[in-house]
Amino acid sequence: MESPPRLPIQKNKKMIKEIIEKLASEQNADREELILLLNDKSEDNLELLRVKAQARARERFGNKIFVRGLIEFSNICKNDCFYCGLRRSNGRVARYRLTKEQILGCCENGYALGFRTFVLQSGEDGCYTDEVITDIVSEVKKRFPDCAVTLSLGERSRESYLRLFEAGADRYLLRHETASKPHYERLHPGDMSFENRLSCLRALKEIGFQTGAGFMVGSPFQTTDDLADDLLFLKAFEPQMCGIGPFIPHRDTPFGNYPQGSLDLTLKLLSIVRLLLPDVLLPSTTALGTIDPRGRELGILHGANVVMPNLSPKEHRKDYSLYDNKICTGDEAAECVNCLSLRMKSIGYETVTDRGDFKQHKTTGNKE
Ligand code: SAH
Ligand code: SF4
Repeated sequence: MESPPRLPIQKNKKMIKEIIEKLASEQNADREELILLLNDKSEDNLELLRVKAQARARERFGNKIFVRGLIEFSNICKNDCFYCGLRRSNGRVARYRLTKEQILGCCENGYALGFRTFVLQSGEDGCYTDEVITDIVSEVKKRFPDCAVTLSLGERSRESYLRLFEAGADRYLLRHETASKPHYERLHPGDMSFENRLSCLRALKEIGFQTGAGFMVGSPFQTTDDLADDLLFLKAFEPQMCGIGPFIPHRDTPFGNYPQGSLDLTLKLLSIVRLLLPDVLLPSTTALGTIDPRGRELGILHGANVVMPNLSPKEHRKDYSLYDNKICTGDEAAECVNCLSLRMKSIGYETVTDRGDFKQHKTTGNKE
């Protein structure tokens, strides 16, 4: 039997290597290059990409990993995103809401454990009006003036975002979910719109929040082209933070039987984002830790620089089920922190007590 021609493979491999070199030196790539890189399966190239991304993160942040305390304060949501276990149509969730005092209690616990950023996340729960949230935010800032407050409450009006910012919130996470409108429409029901998602993101950035965008890897119907568009969107939007994790099915959603996102592809995307946006705050997510026991360590080794241990009250952890088999639902906050610190230590990194704000570093690449 004749062996297949070898030259094109070698040529392709060389081309991908050049794309990776360009990504590292110019912090950029065009759509065609990104698609080639995303489709490439060569282990050598993948390792080169990983090494460049890890080196870029080390150049910017040393071996320091920023820690954010996640407080999941309500699992009630008016939306019906097809992928999410908290969607309003899921009648099998034990719904809960935390009071202001309970949220402050989580912060107090977290502060004692060394946290200097609190991330308050919830479903889109109408109970938390601007008055309620601004009151909580100003109280957290008053009691813990050296801490940053990050909000992740979904889509709200510009005026609402402005009020939250004026109350002292520093950062806001709102993943764009997908940069493709047709794909967005296959992940969400008709009462949610791609345009609104993007205009929320633009408003957040204009108001002055350190803004986080991001997406799931391997969400149903996602194509390589969609991922390339996600990357181009991130490059153009320049968020200060970027949340990337694998899609994981939740049994009580319309996507319950779809496969989960791939570990390798998620890691590859983390590396590409690190090279496209060298200073971005990039978490190694809980979802990554859910699909692989060493997922969060691998995320760091691929260019991530943030971890987000859970500070939510233990009794409600399992009810904040965005997806199945979420890890850390049985641990106390202190256990989560220790476990993550040890995991980071095992790969030569150190978790730090620092607000860890976005900072534009001087580019040392050979761009100039
Ligand atoms: N309601 C807010 C915040 C909570 S959801 C919002 O939607 O912005 C936070 C993130 O969880 C979402 O942005 C989504 O990307 C992620 N998520 C939801 N369902 C998921 C699933 N099945 N697998 C992986 N990530 C999921
Ligand atoms: Fe609600 Fe957020 Fe889940 Fe969508 S992803 S259903 S907005 S909690």
